[in-house]
Amino acid sequence: MAEMTDYEGYVGVDIGGQSIRVGTIRNGELEVRGFETPASYPEARERIIALAREMAGGSPRGLGIGSPGPLDWRAGKLLWTPNIPWKEISYAELGEPLGCPVYVDNDANVAGLAEAVLGAGRGAEIVSGFTLGTGIGFFTIMHGHIYHGRFDVEGGHQMLNPEGPVCGCGARGCLEAYASATAIEARTGKRPDQIDDPAFWDEIAGYLAQGVINVNNLIGPDVIILAGGMTQRGDLLMEPLRRKANEWCKILPMAPILIAELGHQAGIYGGIVLARLGHGA
Ligand SMILES: [Zn+2]
Repeated sequence: MAEMTDYEGYVGVDIGGQSIRVGTIRNGELEVRGFETPASYPEARERIIALAREMAGGSPRGLGIGSPGPLDWRAGKLLWTPNIPWKEISYAELGEPLGCPVYVDNDANVAGLAEAVLGAGRGAEIVSGFTLGTGIGFFTIMHGHIYHGRFDVEGGHQMLNPEGPVCGCGARGCLEAYASATAIEARTGKRPDQIDDPAFWDEIAGYLAQGVINVNNLIGPDVIILAGGMTQRGDLLMEPLRRKANEWCKILPMAPILIAELGHQAGIYGGIVLARLGHGA
C-alpha cells in the first residue's frame, strides 16, 4: 500500500458552498489552505491556481477536484449546482495554466475515495458507503477507482417502499426520504443531534439496515462505510444498525459496517488521491 509520502506533489481541491479548500501532503502531513467561495468563478480560478502552485512548489503532479454537482466528470465540467452561482464551468481547463492532469468528481465520490484508500476502508479492495447528511450520498470504490456505472450511482435513492414518503428526487419511499437529516427534521421537528430516544434510532437503523443489506447483496463490498454528522450519534445508531443488518441478511455474510475516519478532511484527502490515481479505465 502507498505511503503518505507517495502523495506529495499532488494537490486536492474541495469545492464547497461556503469555502474552497486546497490541500497537499508535505513531509507525510496534510497541509490545507482555504478561502471563502467567491460568487465569481474567474476569481476562484485565480486563487486555486495560485494556491496550488504555491503549495506544490511549482507545477503540481496532478490536481484532483471534489465538487458539488451535477457534473460531467468525464469532461471535468460543472454543469450547475444549487448552492454556488456558477454555471458551465470547465475545471479541466485548469490543467493548462497548472501544467498537470486534472481529475474531477462529485464530493461524495471523492470523500468515499479518501475513506477507501486512506481511511476506514484502507486495505479493502471494494468499498461502498453512504454519506448521511441533508441528503444521503452513496459511493463505491473498486481497487482505488470510483465506480460510476452509466451515469453515476444513487444508493440514497434506492426504493424501500413505493408508497412511502415523497423524496426530494420526486420518487416515493427512497432511503433518503426515511433516514436523511432532512427527512428526520421534517418528521420530528428536531435535528438528529437533538433526538435521544433509542426507539426512534432503532427505527432509523431499520431503514439504514435495508440500505446496507441491499448494497451488501448487490455489490459485495469488503466493507461498508457510513460518513456524515449522524454517525456521531455512535452506538445509539450503530448498535441497532449492525444488529438488524446481521440479523436480517441471510443469503450472504454481512460486510463490516464501519464509521468514516477522515471527517471533514475526507474531501481534501480524496482530491489528492484522485490526483494521483486518476479515474482508471
Ligand atoms: Zn429519492
